Amino acid sequence: MSGNETRVQAINNITNREPMAVSMPEPLSEMWACDVFNLAKMEESLSKNAFKAVKNTVHTGAPLDAATADVVAAAMKEWALSKGVKFFSHIFYPMTNVTAEKHDGLIITNADGVAITEFTGSLLIKGEPDGSSFPNGSIRMTNAARGYTAWDPTSPVFIMHTDNGATLMIPSVFMSWTGEALDKKIPLLRSNQAMNEAAQKVLSLMGETEIAPLNSSCGAEQEYFLVDANFANSRPDLLLAGRTLFGAEPAKGQQFDDHYFGAIPARVQVFMQDVEDQLYRLGIPAKTHHNEVAPGQFEIAPYFEAANVAADHQQLMMTLLKMTAKKHGFVCLLHEKPFAGINGSGKHVNWSVGNATQGNLLDPGQTPHDNLNFLLFCGAVIRGVHLHGPLLRAVIASASNDHRLGANEAPPAILSVYLGDQLEKVFQDIKDGKLATSKAGGLMKLGLPQILHFERDPGDRNRTSPFAFTGNRFEFRAVGSSQSVSGPLVAMNTILADSLDWIAGKLEARLKKKGADQAEAVFAVIKELMEEHGNAVFGGDGYSEEWHKAAVEERGLKNIPTTADALPALQEKSVKAMFRKTGVLSAVELKSRYEVYAEQYILSIEVEARLVVDMAKTMIYPAAIQYLFELSNTSVGMAEMGVDLDNSVAKSIADEANAMMAAVNKLSAALEKDNFSNAEKHMQYCANEIRGLMDEVRVHADVLETEVADDLWPLPKYREMLFIK
Ligand code: ADP
Ligand code: MG
Repeated sequence: MSGNETRVQAINNITNREPMAVSMPEPLSEMWACDVFNLAKMEESLSKNAFKAVKNTVHTGAPLDAATADVVAAAMKEWALSKGVKFFSHIFYPMTNVTAEKHDGLIITNADGVAITEFTGSLLIKGEPDGSSFPNGSIRMTNAARGYTAWDPTSPVFIMHTDNGATLMIPSVFMSWTGEALDKKIPLLRSNQAMNEAAQKVLSLMGETEIAPLNSSCGAEQEYFLVDANFANSRPDLLLAGRTLFGAEPAKGQQFDDHYFGAIPARVQVFMQDVEDQLYRLGIPAKTHHNEVAPGQFEIAPYFEAANVAADHQQLMMTLLKMTAKKHGFVCLLHEKPFAGINGSGKHVNWSVGNATQGNLLDPGQTPHDNLNFLLFCGAVIRGVHLHGPLLRAVIASASNDHRLGANEAPPAILSVYLGDQLEKVFQDIKDGKLATSKAGGLMKLGLPQILHFERDPGDRNRTSPFAFTGNRFEFRAVGSSQSVSGPLVAMNTILADSLDWIAGKLEARLKKKGADQAEAVFAVIKELMEEHGNAVFGGDGYSEEWHKAAVEERGLKNIPTTADALPALQEKSVKAMFRKTGVLSAVELKSRYEVYAEQYILSIEVEARLVVDMAKTMIYPAAIQYLFELSNTSVGMAEMGVDLDNSVAKSIADEANAMMAAVNKLSAALEKDNFSNAEKHMQYCANEIRGLMDEVRVHADVLETEVADDLWPLPKYREMLFIK
């Protein structure tokens, strides 16, 4: 059988594919949030008092009393049963990037064997999954007990449908019996709380009298690839590792820029609309979709929401993208770098903080007073990024995101802040003392409102910055496409809380002085802040070599290329102290996170390395040998006819095949080593030894792909996976 039979079959299947039967969906007004038990639905079905109590919980996070929980559960049950629900599940977010759920029936039988449905407040509020096999780092060692889940009422309950059933999903936190966070939601809720407390202090000092609770917001842009399932299913690497471990560059890649914002292929558009209709039913505000830079790459972005809800929705969106892709005969790749040589996928996390009384604090606003608040909050972010760049790098670290960061298409692995020309000049002027004029109203004469009159969306949008101000929010661009947004949001909220707290202290001291002028105090604090932390502000080309050099040598910033180098930041003294002080993560919780992420990094690389060995030995080497067999037969036959065949091709294939197998043997031997004294050493070994050997195998395999006869090549090629839809 020729090696590429599966490829030919795949192409035939795709060419002769019947379009999927689809029908026009209902109007938006009918489908929007129809599967969500949100406040509007609660108001319809609850007594005034019960509704008031739930609303208070949703808005402030205050605990729900047992009696109200029972009333809510009863209303929820009625609603769910009317929609065909038979099961319910606490859905939670363990420290991996996945979503976890355990389903329970609403049904129980009574003494007479009659089936009745039961769903009480305590079932709603608390679940006990057997959490022992979720990664929990050292917490497992100190505490062998199981974990439990608890409803997070700030994120609404919803229904997930399959073709023949429906399940009530209850967004939950996941913790150990001793109360340690084992998930990504608890720290996010806590970081929001910490940010709120620190922000309240600063705003009070700024003379605000009415200050509603502050919340962080998040709008995440998700990039992904679609590959026809016929191809993906015949690539073990795509199936098991989510990326191609082999593959020669095609003659045509993305060099024509003809895919970016191009017309969306009809089949993909049908898929996107299907995803979006499901999102709408779940109350997830899908807002934009378009082609991305690489062929076969797309983006979807919902409208921003409260960070905690956005994080749950983002997680749900990743699940739906994958599930729906299957239905449409695609595989959706969320991996950061599924294909070498073309762009990878990121997840831009747009983030701001605000409340109902002061609005978005990262919006410069219309009045001098708003401007001052804005400068303080923006300054706090600058300080946070400068002090905790390595932490921000650690929360986006993964084996897969390492392929993208620092390559010439994604932000560098150096954390700096881009402010845009206008804003950068304002901060620079404050630092240089140009705006801090005398008390005699000099400041106002300078025309503060004009100075801070920014264009909403500065035309120059620096795509090379990992962390950019974009008019009324920051955009963390270095986040990977497969990652949960929670880690980055926790880090951003926490560094903001820490810096706002520092600012509050400084501001208070200055305002205490008799006759202190508010604007002057603000400018003085920002001047000090910029003198210490202004080095993090950078508006130039983040991809350039000069920056890589200057950032490290002149600015003292860190360039952290791999996860192995990045994760230890989670164990830094200053990081531990900040998380403890803000109450976001205890030392034990932080340590367990470090251990879980380190383990995941090691496992991902080892799984890939084993696959490289396996595919090289059982698919690629046999193809090369088969071709050599054909060439040598031909050569012998030709010689018999008295015709000489140039044997240089055979020779070069034999050389490459031998070199590949030599590298495979080295890699196999390297994988045997397991006596590491700690996780950091093991990570370094993966980053510096294993990955290099994997690349070595690949180099030879990719040369073979370009030399072995096409009809013998067993793996779908890049040109097929990227261009055939
Ligand atoms: P672009 O690709 O130009 O960066 P998009 O429109 O694709 O912009 O995505 C921008 C994202 O930022 C959207 O999710 C949007 O809702 C979100 N966003 C807008 N304003 C804010 C804000 N104040 N806070 C958080 N996110 C925001
Ligand atoms: Mg963006």
